[in-house]
Amino acid sequence: MEKIEHIGIAVKNLSNANKVYEKLFGIPPYKEEAVESEGVITSFFKAGPNKIELLEARKPDSPIARFIEKRGEGVHHIAFAVKDIRTEMKRLEKEGFTLLNAEPKAGADNKWVAFLHPKTTTGVLIELCQDRG
Ligand code: ZN
Repeated sequence: MEKIEHIGIAVKNLSNANKVYEKLFGIPPYKEEAVESEGVITSFFKAGPNKIELLEARKPDSPIARFIEKRGEGVHHIAFAVKDIRTEMKRLEKEGFTLLNAEPKAGADNKWVAFLHPKTTTGVLIELCQDRG
């Protein structure tokens, strides 16, 4: 793994949350993007070398809706950049981590993504992401 690629934060209302983070960082999000497969709309902020992803559920059965129902708004996942997502997925599965998806899927911000179950990562949802190029 190369570095933290971004931190994902679950929010109830993306436009309200955008205003909060715009005040915090002094700049607006650089993009907003719907991810149909996840039933979410996302926005991305850059703070120096760091990236923050805000996620709002757009379907009642989306993982973000379920997360907010259980735990309220807050940090949802930490994403790590990887060079070769398939190789990392194989390695981590061998190490005993539970993958939430068997194949990389198209995520927001032009990435291939895969998730590790928090049950096997001390309670933190971990996302692997590789540039789609
Ligand atoms: Zn993410």
